[in-house]
Amino acid sequence: MCQDISFYANSFVQSLVAYRPGKPIAETARELGLNPEQIIKLASNENSLGASPKAIEAMQRAVGGVHLYPDGASYALRKRLAEFHAVEMEQTVAAAGSSELIELLGHAFLSEGKEVIAAQYSFAMYSIVARLLNARYVEVPNRARWIHDLEAMLAAITPQTRLVFITNPTNPVGSMVGQQELDDFMNHVPSHVVVAIDEAYIDFAAEQPDTIKYVREGRNVIVLRTFSKAYGLAGVRVGYGITTPAIAELLHKARSPFNVNLVAQVGALAALEDREHLAASVHMVEVGRRLYEETFAAWGMEYVPSHTNFILVNVGCGREIYQRALEQGVITRPMDAYGLPQYIRITIGTEKENTRCLEVLGMLLGK
Ligand SMILES: *Cc1c(COP(=O)(O)O)cnc(C)c1O
Repeated sequence: MCQDISFYANSFVQSLVAYRPGKPIAETARELGLNPEQIIKLASNENSLGASPKAIEAMQRAVGGVHLYPDGASYALRKRLAEFHAVEMEQTVAAAGSSELIELLGHAFLSEGKEVIAAQYSFAMYSIVARLLNARYVEVPNRARWIHDLEAMLAAITPQTRLVFITNPTNPVGSMVGQQELDDFMNHVPSHVVVAIDEAYIDFAAEQPDTIKYVREGRNVIVLRTFSKAYGLAGVRVGYGITTPAIAELLHKARSPFNVNLVAQVGALAALEDREHLAASVHMVEVGRRLYEETFAAWGMEYVPSHTNFILVNVGCGREIYQRALEQGVITRPMDAYGLPQYIRITIGTEKENTRCLEVLGMLLGK
């Protein structure tokens, strides 16, 4: 009797629940028989303004050279990032999105018996990577429901703990912790633990705690940044980490040789220089965020004040409202997989997209 091939696979991989991304526009159009142009995607916290025109131009030029392998060390990009953050180049790691860095941290530090600590309602990749490496994932309840409880996360650290993920601002909630709380945490964290501070949404926050200083102080910390959100480059996959030379070296050993593709390296470099486009993107989000918050308040709906480019809102039955909004061509993100079945998460888009989304929600919710 033949065994199914999954019998021979790692049981901890087989039992993994794969990451479920926001529903793509093309798929939605196909399934619902809609015109893709009438569909708006507010499901994955992408930048509705698009990428910087300068980055697009630079990438178009770079495409002609794709028969050659990219710089395996992402030299030019890392050199510029080091300058930008006032650290040494040896303190930088570039990757195919910060998701890859989360995975590389797993490869470097996790195995059976080791532990990862993260907060309740965290980015799904942390638990996926823990499980992929057969490590234990420890979820620490929030304080005041929505905010990372750094004291409790500190108390959860054991001799087996290798990684602690602090998302700031958080996803899918949109809340934040401040400098003092981070300082207190960093001052007490034991030296066998690597603290990963995931700042995917930091550009949208009014106050931005200085976390690179922990790196400069030589603590076991990595600050994760991405070009997927405010910089509008989600499709080319590029992110980076600022960390100690020792941690950087480990991640370089764990990564694949040409992990950041040629177009992405060039695009990220150009996007980083276009401060005007970044400011316009942040401004669009600030204006849209206000519109959603004011509208939800007026409708008497519960939402979480956001420091990001998305908003979490209680719509009663998230899965149902998600599905009915989808049928109207508005893709949001249901939150049942995150243990929040009453909520949907909406990415803040252009004025036109936000207005359309609120119009559909108002209709569905009888507001
Ligand atoms: C989007 C996101 C990332 C990174 O995404 P990449 O596209 O892989 O760079 C990382 N962390 C959080 C919390 C995110 O929401």
